Amino acid sequence: MRLKDKVAIITGAGRGIGEATAKKFAEEGAKVVVASLFAEEVETTVNEIKAEGGEAFGVVVDVTNREHVDKMINEAVEKYGRLDIIVNNAGITADSTLVKMTEEQWDKVINVNLKGVYNCGQAAAKVMVEQGSGVILNASSVVGIYGNYGQTNYAATKWGVIGMTKSWAKELGKKGVRANAVAPGFILTPMTEKMPEKVLDMMKEKAPVKRLGLPEDIANAYLYLASDEASFVTGTVLEITGGVVL
Ligand code: NAP
Repeated sequence: MRLKDKVAIITGAGRGIGEATAKKFAEEGAKVVVASLFAEEVETTVNEIKAEGGEAFGVVVDVTNREHVDKMINEAVEKYGRLDIIVNNAGITADSTLVKMTEEQWDKVINVNLKGVYNCGQAAAKVMVEQGSGVILNASSVVGIYGNYGQTNYAATKWGVIGMTKSWAKELGKKGVRANAVAPGFILTPMTEKMPEKVLDMMKEKAPVKRLGLPEDIANAYLYLASDEASFVTGTVLEITGGVVL
C-alpha cells in the first residue's frame, strides 16, 4: 500500500476528481478526510469508502470560509493525530467571454479557486511545519497554462495556483513539506458535463490519445505525488492531459 496510515484531506471530495482521489487514497491505506460543500455528497463518498473496508470521515466545508477550514484541519488532527497530505481540489467555473463577464462571476471563481486553495494550504502548512513533514497538492488546469475561450476568471486562478505552489515549495522544502500542482486536461466529471458536447468532441480530437480523461487518471497523479515515491518532487506542475494543447 502506497499511503499506508497517512492522513489525507481531500477538498471537493463529494464528486468528480475529488471523489475518485479520496477512494484511491483509501484503497492505498490512507485515512481520508472527505471534505466538501454538500453534506449528502460527503456522506455518500464516506459510506462508499467504508463499504470497501477503507477508513474515512466527512467534514462539510466551504473552503472560502476560514473558520470552516480551520475547523476541518482541527477535526482531522484531533481524530487521526496528524496531517500528512492535503489535496486542494475544490474548484468551480463560471464561464463568460471577457466583455460579458460580471464582477460576480469574477469574484466567485477567484474566491473558491484561489482564496480557497490559499486558506486550506496555509492552515495545513502550519500543522505540517510543526510535524516536520507533509505534502500539499493543488488543482491547477491546462486552462491555466494555455488560457481558454470564455474562462478569463478560471484561467487566472489556475495560473495563480501554480505561482502559489512554487512559492510554497520554496518556503516549505527545508521544513520537510513538499508542494506540487496537477494540471488536468479535459476530464469527464460533473464540471465538464456543463460544456457543449461539440467542445468536448473537439478536445477529444485534439488529444493525441483520442479520448477525454477519467477522474481516476487524475487520482493516479495525486497518488504518485502524495506517496514517498515522489520524495524528490516539489514545485512541479504535472500535466495530465492526454497530450492536449489548447
Ligand atoms: P466537480 O465535479 O465540479 O467537483 C468539484 C467539487 O468541489 C464538488 O464536490 C463541489 O462541491 C466542491 N466545491 C465547490 N465549491 C466548493 C467550496 N466553496 N468549498 C468546498 N467544496 C467546494 O469538479 P471536477 O471536475 O472534479 O474538478 C475538480 C478540480 O479539478 C477543480 O479544481 C477543477 O478546477 C480542476 N480541474 C478539472 C478539470 C476537468 O476537466 N474536470 C480540468 C482541469 C482542472 P458541490 O458538489 O457541493 O458543489
